[in-house]
Amino acid sequence: MQKAHDLKEYREELRESLDNDFLRTTLDNFAVAYRAGRANAFKGIDVKGLIGEIAASKDAAAADFDRLYAEFKANAEAAGVHVHFAHDADEANKIITKIARDAECKKIVKSKSMTAEEILLNHDLEAAGIEVTETDLGEWIIQLRHEGPSHMVMPAIHLSRFQVGDLFTEVTGKKQDTEIEKLVKVARRELRSKYIEADMGISGANFAIAETGGIGIVTNEGNARLVTTLPRVHVALMGIDKLLPTLHDALRILKVLPRNATGQQITSYVTWITGANECLAAEDGKKEIHYVFLDNGRSELVKDPLFSQVNRCVRCGACANVCPVYRLVGGHKMGHIYIGAIGLILTYFFHGKEKAKNLVQNCINCEACKDVCAGGIDLPRLIKTIHARIMEEDGHPLPSVLLGQVLRNRKLFHGLLRAAKWGQRPVAEKDGFIRHLPMIFSKEHSFRALPTIAEKPFRDWWQQNAPRVENPKYRVALFSGCVQDFVYPEQMQSAVRLFEAEGVSMDYPMGQTCCGLPVQMMGEMKASHDVAAQNLAAFDPSKYDYIITLCASCAAHLKHNYPKLVMGKPSLKLRADDFSAKIMDYSSFVNDVLKVKADEFKGSGGKATYHAPCHLCRGLDVHEAPRELLAKAGKEYVPCAEEEVCCGFGGTFSMKFPELSAELLRKKLDNVEATGASELYTDCPGCIMQLRGGLKRRGSSIKVRHVAELLDDSKKK
Ligand code: SF4
Ligand code: SF4
Repeated sequence: MQKAHDLKEYREELRESLDNDFLRTTLDNFAVAYRAGRANAFKGIDVKGLIGEIAASKDAAAADFDRLYAEFKANAEAAGVHVHFAHDADEANKIITKIARDAECKKIVKSKSMTAEEILLNHDLEAAGIEVTETDLGEWIIQLRHEGPSHMVMPAIHLSRFQVGDLFTEVTGKKQDTEIEKLVKVARRELRSKYIEADMGISGANFAIAETGGIGIVTNEGNARLVTTLPRVHVALMGIDKLLPTLHDALRILKVLPRNATGQQITSYVTWITGANECLAAEDGKKEIHYVFLDNGRSELVKDPLFSQVNRCVRCGACANVCPVYRLVGGHKMGHIYIGAIGLILTYFFHGKEKAKNLVQNCINCEACKDVCAGGIDLPRLIKTIHARIMEEDGHPLPSVLLGQVLRNRKLFHGLLRAAKWGQRPVAEKDGFIRHLPMIFSKEHSFRALPTIAEKPFRDWWQQNAPRVENPKYRVALFSGCVQDFVYPEQMQSAVRLFEAEGVSMDYPMGQTCCGLPVQMMGEMKASHDVAAQNLAAFDPSKYDYIITLCASCAAHLKHNYPKLVMGKPSLKLRADDFSAKIMDYSSFVNDVLKVKADEFKGSGGKATYHAPCHLCRGLDVHEAPRELLAKAGKEYVPCAEEEVCCGFGGTFSMKFPELSAELLRKKLDNVEATGASELYTDCPGCIMQLRGGLKRRGSSIKVRHVAELLDDSKKK
């Protein structure tokens, strides 16, 4: 559970995780194995289509909750089950404690339930003098250690077998072996008697089926079968989001759940319970069953046009499995009870602003979670929105207010960048890097060298060098973004030369400014909106076939976020729709629209590898175009391990969490160096800044360049 009170304390907690070698290695190994396992498990399945169907069916079920609940209740009660509704955590705890008291239950066995963790059910039951034993191996371990789960599916993933061995030695009073099979046997031996002695079993439920009044439970250990079968009383606790109309809806989710959770094609056990059946432990030979539905803010969420999608979550845990930040720091730093991307969101709604305010800042916006989410939830957007909401409530920190004010005023912003060019002279090196950072930054930010501001911004170069192209094949507008305008103008110039040679006429609207993503990342939504409005005013989309940008992050932000940012202003919304429809990244335009051919290039040879920017591969779903361009330009493309994993830049994220940014960069550069390539290409100036600066610090000779620079250099003139 996350305990820090402010960002400083939170960063100290993150440091502890980063220093935990076992945690780091375990999560690393799991992340690599999971990615391969998941891809394999989904082979031949239309994953996107399936996720779309799950999202639609969960949305429909949420909208029809009252009718479905009435249908479920009638069917379940007809089958001899008691159905309860709890509005909040306190009510749910009271209902379950009362059931236990009324049935004179002294001992309870439990199978894994995140909903029970959410309401801290064990605390209430134990306070009522009832013994509760967790029977899922991971849950039992963390119960014995008095801590919360660090993953929704693998709650004790943060612990080594040696730690578990010590724990079991303490619990059993006998020295225990640390072989995993032997530890599992210890748990089995210790827990068997608990099932027999228990008066009540408590489980969660993955599905509640209105048409049958039954529930479905998905597990890997089989303990839920014992929990729901042996004791005379069974209580199943579930969020109201688990209610579905038909078995068919549940089976659709079942197709994704194990594949997404652990990369397995099927899970070991799926238990369907419909009605109170015979039970030898009960006096009357009949089992007493209670289903408790928990609202706890879920019905309010469903009414929210943006956050209603949270209801689609099936608790598969995939958003943690692929999250590069989770992989570094683990679940106790990435959620209060629920973990990973959805954990950041649910912490705010279920456990309050104080618990969420640090966590929601710890998202690098890489979109890996959104890409795999079983419910198609736009997790990064929701995380950013919560961050902005918290800032609205608590007040904005001074640095983000200042950044917002500067970016809103294009002339001031550009004036400051021009002034920085002069200010940097005493510390600028000839190779385009700053010699050393100011003392206040140097300790934490020295993991990468920073570039200098360019002598002449692209906009000034353009005014003197804009080419005229007669009878153009295409008319495009160029969007540079601030990094390529003021730091790397040579990348834009490369694109201009290639486009001219390919018969593309270009326009560079001078009123354009930063895309606004940096302020959005800091939760400054108003500034982000204002900057978007300025860019929309600068570009008239009707004049162009395409609006091209060489920055993947700008491209994804302009394309996907602008229409959402101006949603409330109908006149701007129309403009934003036209504008975003014309946005295209450089590689897709050159490869798929211009269709350049290999014989247009000299074929310079040499081994080159590639880094896929998050906002290109996931934000825009562009995968092949840049790699094909490397080959067309004559490079031997050497794939890099984890090519589509974030490099750790994340704009303002790397300033706020330099320790995490440095670690992500270290992994990325290790993988790059392992390819043996002498050149590294990518499609985003932010990634170039991070990768180039990191390699410079390593003293590496690997050259980092934009794909546009390669094509410009290799083009036969
Ligand atoms: S966007 Fe990336 S960093 Fe943020 S929660 Fe999702 S996976 Fe993690
Ligand atoms: S948010 Fe999506 S990926 Fe994360 S646990 Fe829920 S369904 Fe799975």
